[in-house]
Amino acid sequence: MKKLDEKETWQAALGELEVVLSKANFTTWFKDTFVLFLNEEEIIIGVPNAFTKEWLENKYHLQISQTLKKIHPGLKDVKYSVSSPALPRSAPKIVTKDDIPEEKIAHPTLNGKYTFETFIVGNSNRLAAATAQAVAAKPGTVYNPLFIYGGVGLGKTHLVQAIGNEIIGKSSKTKKKVIYVPCERFTNEFIQAISSGKMNEFKKNYRDADVLLVDDIQFLSGKEGTQEEFFHTFNALHQINRQIVITSDRVPKAIPQLEDRLSSRFGMGMVADIQAPNLEMRQAILTSKCEEKKYSLPDEVLDYIAQNIESNIRELEGAVNRIVSYCELNNLEPSEDVAIKVLEDIIVSRGKNLTVEKILKVSSEFFNIEIKDLLSTRRNKELVWPRQIIMYLLRHEMNLSYPKIGRELNKKDHTTAIHGVEKIEKEVARNDDLRRELTLIKEKLSAA
Ligand code: ADP
Ligand code: MG
Repeated sequence: MKKLDEKETWQAALGELEVVLSKANFTTWFKDTFVLFLNEEEIIIGVPNAFTKEWLENKYHLQISQTLKKIHPGLKDVKYSVSSPALPRSAPKIVTKDDIPEEKIAHPTLNGKYTFETFIVGNSNRLAAATAQAVAAKPGTVYNPLFIYGGVGLGKTHLVQAIGNEIIGKSSKTKKKVIYVPCERFTNEFIQAISSGKMNEFKKNYRDADVLLVDDIQFLSGKEGTQEEFFHTFNALHQINRQIVITSDRVPKAIPQLEDRLSSRFGMGMVADIQAPNLEMRQAILTSKCEEKKYSLPDEVLDYIAQNIESNIRELEGAVNRIVSYCELNNLEPSEDVAIKVLEDIIVSRGKNLTVEKILKVSSEFFNIEIKDLLSTRRNKELVWPRQIIMYLLRHEMNLSYPKIGRELNKKDHTTAIHGVEKIEKEVARNDDLRRELTLIKEKLSAA
């Protein structure tokens, strides 16, 4: 297994920070940050502007360094530097493919890895993916604007960049100018353009676009001047059928302090949402991410992650990276036990602070049977039933795999666990007393 590179390191760290910070703070301060430099002892985080730099240094430095040191224990120095990921030394510049002599040079604001090929489609994002593909196939004609909304880490940036990459990839002869811009960068550029007297250039740049992709438009909230400017940009492009794609964390009408004329325009094309992925989709995403990165993790580990990390695809990836790096640093084979340990803080912080020990203790008190008897190999009738309830709880409350449940209860093979869990599942459906018992046990568990 390989060491985490700069990107993976930061992704793993962001995955953790996202969990401990409020959503608003996380999005505001960690958007568009990346690792500029990384060696054994030092890491430099690139940030989009001086304000963010100051804020991270003063408010979040401790959390950031602690998180990074978990991933790279040898780190001594964590620094911040104002920079942009595509063009480290200068302001972002928009280039069309034709300005570029070589065939395969990267677009300065699009990340080439965000393509439709690597985007997994399921029920939760089917509409968004389909409309995005339609727009990429015929920009400016089908849905304009296309407005995609959904929670953090659910693939909005990936999808909108996939549109850009697809159009760039196909337009080598037609010279399409694609601009991808996070809303905050649009705002910053606008402010800079005013202060440096370069408004005309700013306007021309954006109004020249064939395709304008604006990410996280909710950050226009309360910014009146930028809203005004964006309104004119939007109209100028829309009138001549240039494609506009916008992402947001909520529907247009729900963005606070956004002018009505803007929110109504945002809603006049197609509005498509991305929901949290279901279990099968989370499993599919994990499998595909592992393939992409050439990691091989056993199914029990992937299942554990998929069962427990439900609402954020970035976190799914972050969890994989953490487990891989932990195993590598400690020279361990990845297993469900390792996954439980490594992801403990993420999963506990969601209120699921259950442990096998707790379930055993509460059940032992509830049934008035000693734990050592519950764990014994004796097969008395009065022991079998409580054991099956424990298996059921381990499965349903902690999402443990059957092999793990078998091991915890000293069973030689996991079919006993499957059988036990299924038995209770069937009974639950028809047995009111059992349901009441389970409710009581769960109450005791949450109080334990
Ligand atoms: P958002 O912009 O909605 O916060 P991102 O687009 O940054 O989310 O997605 C977070 C991570 O999850 C990215 O690494 C992205 O590639 C990955 N991701 C999100 N949705 C999918 C998907 N459907 N298939 C594959 N990867 C996905
Ligand atoms: Mg995004």
